[in-house]
Amino acid sequence: MPSALVFFTELSDAPSKAQRELLTLAASIGEPTVAVASEVPEAAVTQLGAYGVNKLLVAPANESSFLDHSLSALEAAVKESAAQVVVVANDNFSREVAARIAVRVDGSIVTDAIDISADLVVTKDELAGSYSAQAQASGGVLFVTLKPNSIEDTPQAQAVSVSVEELAVSAATAPSVRIMATEEKVASDRPKLTEARVVVAGGRGVNGDFSAVEALADALGGAVGASRAATDAGWISHDAQIGQTGVTVSPQLFISAGISGAIQQKAGMQTSKCIIAINKDVDAPVFEIADFGIVGDLDKVLPQAAEEIRRRQA
Ligand SMILES: Cc1cc2nc3c(=O)[nH]c(=O)nc-3n(C[C@H](O)[C@H](O)[C@H](O)COP(=O)(O)OP(=O)(O)OC[C@H]3O[C@@H](n4cnc5c(N)ncnc54)[C@H](O)[C@@H]3O)c2cc1C
Repeated sequence: MPSALVFFTELSDAPSKAQRELLTLAASIGEPTVAVASEVPEAAVTQLGAYGVNKLLVAPANESSFLDHSLSALEAAVKESAAQVVVVANDNFSREVAARIAVRVDGSIVTDAIDISADLVVTKDELAGSYSAQAQASGGVLFVTLKPNSIEDTPQAQAVSVSVEELAVSAATAPSVRIMATEEKVASDRPKLTEARVVVAGGRGVNGDFSAVEALADALGGAVGASRAATDAGWISHDAQIGQTGVTVSPQLFISAGISGAIQQKAGMQTSKCIIAINKDVDAPVFEIADFGIVGDLDKVLPQAAEEIRRRQA
């Protein structure tokens, strides 16, 4: 049975959904070890036990050299755990840390994975989800970044007790990046766009008013996304842009409203499990990839949908 290591830069009281998916995947490969590059609260340790994690390696944070510290912590954890496979989140920071350590330890890396089998064959989407590819490392430790929403978050039937050890990390003598100041972003009640199970996205068709898109997203507990036409117009922040030059999402349900479905837009959402498109133009390209299409005015369709969902929830 291969030994799996999961690496997090930080872990709060309750691991996020994307973190729980990483733990679920690691447990399906072998008895997982978790390494965290900062202090871990007691409540999180209990949560790790519920996912079958029997060992936790903690490298207390070094605020002034965040990147160097994460690199040193992951490198030390790979050596300490003797893991054959290391799974990390698919965000830019984790991808960079994993790729740099893969080079240092002469390993291999596969990004954007959606699954890893017990014999370490990695499945990933290629060309914006047009193809599914399977890859196997030819040697060394295998590093894998997992796309959120690819696997079902499932705790183990039986929780295990977690042994906690401090990880000896060599201090970076001259940090390449020094954090001068940090400012917490205003927290939204909505889930993170890249991790949400439901995304409702609006395009030029919303004509400057995202309130109906937001109301449907809130009724479904989802995140709000947008096309580039909408973000370029300044109707919504650039963080919300989905597509080739924005973020890639792969939720269980993607609702596209007033978006034509240009190739650069599709590149960021076409691996969604179920796509519902609302567009008043029956020939809009988005209908080519939609599982369900509604030809109609989003100003009528979105409020009706939100109202019906709220009525059924009541
Ligand atoms: C290099 C490059 C990178 C790019 N990267 C991205 C990217 O990351 N993401 C991205 O989104 N785009 C990207 N684009 C832009 C992309 O090509 C399209 O221009 C953009 O996606 C169009 O946005 P849209 O669908 O909202 O607008 P439009 O193409 O103008 O479509 C608006 C749609 O709304 C419909 N509509 C209008 N009113 C209503 C209504 N009341 N009810 C229902 N439907 C209505 C219309 O029928 C139409 O289909 C990129 C382009 C380039 C060249």
